[in-house]
Amino acid sequence: MVRCDGARAGYKMLCNGSLYKCVCGEIGCTQNKPELCTNQGFDASGKCVKCGAVGKRELLAPEAVGFIRSLMGDPRPSAGA
Ligand SMILES: [Zn+2]
Ligand SMILES: [Zn+2]
Repeated sequence: MVRCDGARAGYKMLCNGSLYKCVCGEIGCTQNKPELCTNQGFDASGKCVKCGAVGKRELLAPEAVGFIRSLMGDPRPSAGA
């Protein structure tokens, strides 16, 4: 799962944002306002909501690992697991 599976506040819809991982271990998406997503990890400046570190995160990209499998015709797992 590379995309954020949190829910957008007030919308009850899937966030689907890119996920980042902080050096502290926090994983979440980036939103330009606080608490916009139930799984928000960073604000617009890239500041971790947990430890406050700025710019100490990296983009999670597990799709790079699963990409070859996708090319081989493996169907994507259905959403909403
Ligand atoms: Zn999110
Ligand atoms: Zn952090």
